[in-house]
Amino acid sequence: MSDAGPAGRRDAARRATTAARLAALRARLADLGAEAALLSAPADVRWASGFTTPADGRVLLTPDAALLLTDDRYTAQAAEESTIEVRIVAAAARLEALADLVGSATLGVQADHLTWQAARELEERLGRPPLPLADLTRPLRIVKTPDEIARLREAARLTDAAFDHVLAGPLRAGTREVDVALEIERFIRGQGGEAVSFEVIVAGGHRSAMPHGVASERVIERGDLVTLDFGARVDGYHADMTRSVAIGPVAEPLRSWYDAVLDAQRAAVAAIRPGLSGVDADRVARERLGRAGLAERFAHSLGHGVGLQIHEAPSLSTRSTDVLAPGMAVTVEPGVYQPGLGGLRIEDLVLVTAEGHEVLSRSPKDYLEL
Ligand code: ZN
Ligand code: ZN
Repeated sequence: MSDAGPAGRRDAARRATTAARLAALRARLADLGAEAALLSAPADVRWASGFTTPADGRVLLTPDAALLLTDDRYTAQAAEESTIEVRIVAAAARLEALADLVGSATLGVQADHLTWQAARELEERLGRPPLPLADLTRPLRIVKTPDEIARLREAARLTDAAFDHVLAGPLRAGTREVDVALEIERFIRGQGGEAVSFEVIVAGGHRSAMPHGVASERVIERGDLVTLDFGARVDGYHADMTRSVAIGPVAEPLRSWYDAVLDAQRAAVAAIRPGLSGVDADRVARERLGRAGLAERFAHSLGHGVGLQIHEAPSLSTRSTDVLAPGMAVTVEPGVYQPGLGGLRIEDLVLVTAEGHEVLSRSPKDYLEL
């Protein structure tokens, strides 16, 4: 195959990206005392190989090889997508193949992903226990490359467009929540998104008190404050945004809570910069909500990193050990909730830059009454 032309150059760039990632992973393995590693977590399999059905693949890194192991349902797809050598192995023969390839090398496995049963089977086949490693790729994926940032940016753009789209039509009294969610999903897929980042959350009325209330058959009513939390996935990279929209006038206390959450959200976004700790970012929003008497109603953390996973490092929370650096992508999403009454959340996707930050979510977030 010729490497000339845009497709060839793109393939060469993808292989170069993978080579840099695997070099970093090999260095990390050496630090951790492993000579080989079996990647099983889907986001890591995709990160290390480009294979887009990573739950059905494994990446094996040995001192002299990097292999994508998958089965014969994926022969053509793996050949097309993988940036590393592909080995087609039936699931029943995978352990045996692994043991042969690993030989006597110390094999690290993903302790925070591989099942206990799979670890036991591997131990039996190798004749020795694998080395359990936690957070193996965390420090390698926490700062995004320019290519990854471009994908996050496109995912955020598509997410904004989907929000515009439902504001212009489906989001109104008389529509079921599930129909708004389906319209978001249809729009994102139709505009070239790979998928929605997670099951779309549309929660109005008393359901808005559920931070993760996926769309139900409930009909949206006048007076609802409807929380929409969703994102587009582009080339494996997830966007994540929440807006809470009033359908006609919203009663107190929800109306005032909106202003308090927006104030806390804006203050926390303004604080995002390199050197800020995840704990301090969270504290900015928590203190603002505390001044409004709403600290106890903010029952989750401020935000999370996004990338090949919807929730990944770094964490912005009371227990975070992370410190922000340029190239990290995080959500900033304070919310308040009262069971039986309702709640709201406002969430942006924010990129940490050398100068401070750039908000990738562009959708308006001032109180909006349809
Ligand atoms: Zn979200
Ligand atoms: Zn989020």
